[in-house]
Amino acid sequence: MRAHPAGPRHGDMVSALGTPTAPVDSESLHELSPIVWPKSVLRARGKDLTAQSLEVAGVDVRDIADEFGTPLFVLDEADFRSRAAAFRRAYDDDEIPGTVYYAGKAFLSATTLRWLADEGLNLDVCSGGELALALRAGFPTDRISFHGNNKSHDEIDAAVIAGIGSFVIDSFEEIARVAAAATRHDVIVNVLVRVTVGVEAHTHEFIATAHEDQKFGLSLSTGAAAEAIRRIVKLPSLNLIGLHSHIGSQIFDEAGFEVAAHRLVGLAAAVRDEHGFEVDELNLGGGMGIAYQSDDDPMTADEMASLLRGIIKRECAGYGLRLPHIAVEPGRAIVGPSMFTLYRVGTVKEIDLGNGHARRYVSVDGGMSDNIRTALYDAEYTVRLASRVSEADAVLSRVVGRHCESGDIVVRDCWLPGDVTAGDLVAVAATGAYCRAMASNYNYVPRPAVVGVCEGKASLVLRGETIDDLLAFDPAL
Ligand SMILES: *Cc1c(COP(=O)(O)O)cnc(C)c1O
Repeated sequence: MRAHPAGPRHGDMVSALGTPTAPVDSESLHELSPIVWPKSVLRARGKDLTAQSLEVAGVDVRDIADEFGTPLFVLDEADFRSRAAAFRRAYDDDEIPGTVYYAGKAFLSATTLRWLADEGLNLDVCSGGELALALRAGFPTDRISFHGNNKSHDEIDAAVIAGIGSFVIDSFEEIARVAAAATRHDVIVNVLVRVTVGVEAHTHEFIATAHEDQKFGLSLSTGAAAEAIRRIVKLPSLNLIGLHSHIGSQIFDEAGFEVAAHRLVGLAAAVRDEHGFEVDELNLGGGMGIAYQSDDDPMTADEMASLLRGIIKRECAGYGLRLPHIAVEPGRAIVGPSMFTLYRVGTVKEIDLGNGHARRYVSVDGGMSDNIRTALYDAEYTVRLASRVSEADAVLSRVVGRHCESGDIVVRDCWLPGDVTAGDLVAVAATGAYCRAMASNYNYVPRPAVVGVCEGKASLVLRGETIDDLLAFDPAL
């Protein structure tokens, strides 16, 4: 099977981006699939029985929008915590103990870092900025691991001084840099080697190749990984604790993890044979897929954990290795489904498609600056009218942003009630991962706030930017 590394658009995997088939009935336009929306989201029956707006953790989205403005990311705290806790429990095993590193790049804030620390998770960071935030938020330093293919001297130094748990080594240069920093500060630093195992996975497919054409990691097939290990074991300031592999993102097909684990254990056996010791930890990275639409069918944390344990057990038995500690790094699978975006509709246009169909362009007050995933990866999202329900017939719609770019699309094809109009609120589900984190200031649009909701209370997780914030960067003003 093949998947294109740049995403489905480039691999002709999306057949007919365009006109979806039959319209759906008006009731299904209001459905809230529990695999797509945060657990506490429902249609409000409270003070305003007729409107039936969305409610999250007991708070009406209309009230949240009025208080904090739109566009806005809304985060269900209990949902986030329960996903983090489910991962933690899934890897809590006597025979093969596991550690769960939250992949900070998916979404980071001091508040969510505290929730993650409470729930017993570790953290992976991949820049000095992410590290600084984690340290300032008081995240336990020994539970932080540092990733990235081009860590600077200063970033490495800051991490060594802070005493983080481990570095995931990604290049030969980095071996020398980390060793030098460790020597300078008179410490021994734990390292893993990021191995490019020749597996690349996207959603339903993966490719396993011999040659790995990408910037991350040290290649298994060319011997770069083995050479990195040789250099590391010679350096007294470095302690090789494990091997790491990360094969992709939004993966539903477990076969990619299986091949990766097989190759990683093979390398662990080669390390034993060459150097006479067994590594303690195998880190299989992140990439566990989530449901963006109600027919997506991702694995649960439990299913994934027992699958990985099964593979590792079998492979280690094959090589006569003792069972290692395992680690995983979910980002999307924790924060993705626990957040949604709330937009206000500004304009509505009807475009005749010339084939007896029309498409309704529904423009919202955000767009590619708060969600680049549709433009970048052809990501598909679920959208609902959020401020009310409607009996109007379904109309083929496209939810677009407010930016000066025709590719500024939030939801390419969806059905919305035909009476959606300026002033309505719409909600786009499962935007917790890689949306706020990848947000930009394109068109000098301030990045939205993130509001956490728990037990009937809404409070800021990240303040929204203001135009003054943006102007403050310009020294000529
Ligand atoms: C991005 C990334 C992750 C997290 O990926 P998700 O798809 O969000 O689970 C984990 N580990 C590494 C090394 C990554 O680069």
